[in-house]
Amino acid sequence: MDYLEGLNPPQRQAVEQTEGPVMIIAGAGSGKTRVLMYRIAHLIHAKGVDPFNILSLTFTNKAASEMKQRIERVVGLEARNTWMGTFHSTFAKILRVEADKLGYPSNFTIYDTDDSKSLIRSVVKEMKLDDKVYKPNTVLSRISGAKNRLIGWQTYLNDPYIKADDDAAMKPKVGEIYRVYQQRLFKSGAMDFDDLLFNTNVLFRDHPDALNKYQQRFKYVMVDEFQDTNLSQYLITKKLAAVHQNICVVGDDAQSIYAFRGADIQNILNFEKDYPDLFVVKLEQNYRSTKTIVEAANSIIAKNKAQLKKDVWTENVTGDLIELFKAASDNEEGRIVASTIFEERNNKKLNNSDFAILYRTNSQSRAMEEALRKMSIPYKIVGGLSFYQRKEIKDLMAYMRFAVNSVDEEAFKRIINYPKRGVGDTSVEKMMIAAYEHDIPLWEVVNNSSSFLTGRAANSVHDFATMIKSFKVEIERKDAFESASTIAKQSGLLRELYEDKTIEGLNRYENVQELLNAIKEYVDNSENEDKSLGAFLQEIALLTDNDRDKDTTDSVTLMTIHSSKGLEFKQVFVVGLEEDLFPSQMMMQSREDLEEERRLFYVATTRAMDKLYLSYALSRYRYGRLLNCEQSRFLEEIDPLHIKVNKKMATALANSFRNSYADEGSASFKGLKKPELRTGTAKLHTPSPDFKPSNTNNLQEGQKIEHPKFGYGMVSKIEIEGANRKAVISFDNFGDKTLLLSFAKLRIV
Ligand code: ATP
Ligand code: MG
Repeated sequence: MDYLEGLNPPQRQAVEQTEGPVMIIAGAGSGKTRVLMYRIAHLIHAKGVDPFNILSLTFTNKAASEMKQRIERVVGLEARNTWMGTFHSTFAKILRVEADKLGYPSNFTIYDTDDSKSLIRSVVKEMKLDDKVYKPNTVLSRISGAKNRLIGWQTYLNDPYIKADDDAAMKPKVGEIYRVYQQRLFKSGAMDFDDLLFNTNVLFRDHPDALNKYQQRFKYVMVDEFQDTNLSQYLITKKLAAVHQNICVVGDDAQSIYAFRGADIQNILNFEKDYPDLFVVKLEQNYRSTKTIVEAANSIIAKNKAQLKKDVWTENVTGDLIELFKAASDNEEGRIVASTIFEERNNKKLNNSDFAILYRTNSQSRAMEEALRKMSIPYKIVGGLSFYQRKEIKDLMAYMRFAVNSVDEEAFKRIINYPKRGVGDTSVEKMMIAAYEHDIPLWEVVNNSSSFLTGRAANSVHDFATMIKSFKVEIERKDAFESASTIAKQSGLLRELYEDKTIEGLNRYENVQELLNAIKEYVDNSENEDKSLGAFLQEIALLTDNDRDKDTTDSVTLMTIHSSKGLEFKQVFVVGLEEDLFPSQMMMQSREDLEEERRLFYVATTRAMDKLYLSYALSRYRYGRLLNCEQSRFLEEIDPLHIKVNKKMATALANSFRNSYADEGSASFKGLKKPELRTGTAKLHTPSPDFKPSNTNNLQEGQKIEHPKFGYGMVSKIEIEGANRKAVISFDNFGDKTLLLSFAKLRIV
């Protein structure tokens, strides 16, 4: 069969070994994902397997749809019927069908991280606990960790080890919060992300009939990026494959980067124990990258103690050396990256989409964006604050959610008084307490407002309930687009935005229109037969960061290394290689953590096909302060044979940009002499003992200020540029500096 010719012998073996358990453990870029794709094509085409019987779990939904399209080219339209998607989206679909077995409504809401944190905040408040001790983030990550290990709140409360651990962390009430949080979710007909997996496990444990149904359906189960599955995901996969035993997992232990979210490398090791007749395939030939990149990446990962032995090699050309840039500041780093992209693109006739800029944390994108914008290079950010996280979008979605599932507490809180209808916080609280004290669904309280509230609030809530009821009728009868349009109009939300004539208001209005467009597209084109608003909402809730990228213009990709998993680009820039930033100070508690950071670095470098650039800055704004930085230890770990320092370019570029952008950039380094920056010997100011940053919203020219590092100075100018307010300050000892007021910590004296 001709498609099999695009595979090397071990890849082909892995494709043809369709029966029984198979594990492919292989290096980056060795064709693991390609093998999965061909395997599915082979199952359908050569083995006559019904696509409905194939389940394939991928890292993003986008990866799944791309895979489908490529399989379609081999086997035709039938490929569409394979089950493909992330763990979360696949099992959410199954839970939707089986929800009643677990006591959930089939139109249950999926809470995103914001909703979950907001609920935790309410619970902490109601329990009268200290919200500084029980921060939503911390509590949520403890609860999430428990769920990923399949520990429900009952077990959590009774386990002496967990109790000891929480006591040691001075957070003895996490178990109680977990209990209340979970009960509130249940009452709201809602599941958080972890519940989707947790509840699937519960379903399969308590309902053998349901388990059996899916075991019969999924005769072939495949998992990509297996190294990043957690216990909960592993058990689901194992149970599903228990009858037919046709399970194929592919992964690379060297690319395991989600331990902080509960992923467990043990799964790879256990797999061999769980399936004694396991067929193991090793793929070692890399098809993605140049020899230089492959060898450099090997030299990085060799520093890790914990790893399975692999010998990754390639027949590809040696290619260019890796280039290392050293910049004076994060802004300069941005300029170097942007101008390099500009030149390479023109010299080598590349597209913007051939370039990616990868960083450790989302906040690093700012300097990159600014520089790209100045050079008019189109870019897109994957992750960060994406479309679906914008306030106006969340507001409209909350209306839709509440209309679909009227016990959804978080959705209710968002919309009950937006647009304003005279229902204050006290009334909202009264209703929540009423639902709690009377142990009735929130919707019942809303529906009987006069029993719980008085005066204007009672009337408003009554009208609100009538409106929601009319939405429900609409949703029953019409498709997602028609219902959403009605909701947008009749809720008053569109009008509210329309009447705001500021640029931001206009933008928000357009965003809402854009959401309606997206819903129309769903109704017209989705493979999902269910075109209802409920089905649409579910689909949206499960998009991962990578999936949210809808932009089709040719643009440079900016993203965190975590989201870059599995992808490849001709040229890759890994920026911010500084101690404390990468490896990240926050994540580093132990040797294991350092190894995880190193694996992350390995993932980053192995995304590059032709050329890799690494860079760091000697100073950078972090946490609102200008910090001096040191180069990352990772740079010293790469075999120096493969790397060259691009000094000439850094200085030449810096000079040319210094001329053309003399006064631009959010934090200009004019006046701060380079040697001082490097050596850190500048006599920096010691803040006065009562230093406390002032509110600078009304900062005026002529005012005197104190800066924690640069000392005393006077505001000589205030500039406004878009959303940014900047102050030019003449410092007594450091000359003129332009500071971005939203970052600068200034005390007005
Ligand atoms: P990662 O570890 O990053 O997920 P991977 O092992 O999944 O990588 P793929 O993405 O499947 O690797 O493949 C890397 C690149 O090599 C792709 O562009 C793929 O098309 C190509 N490739 C893989 N195998 C072959 C082959 N036998 N012949 C030609 N190209 C191949
Ligand atoms: Mg892959």
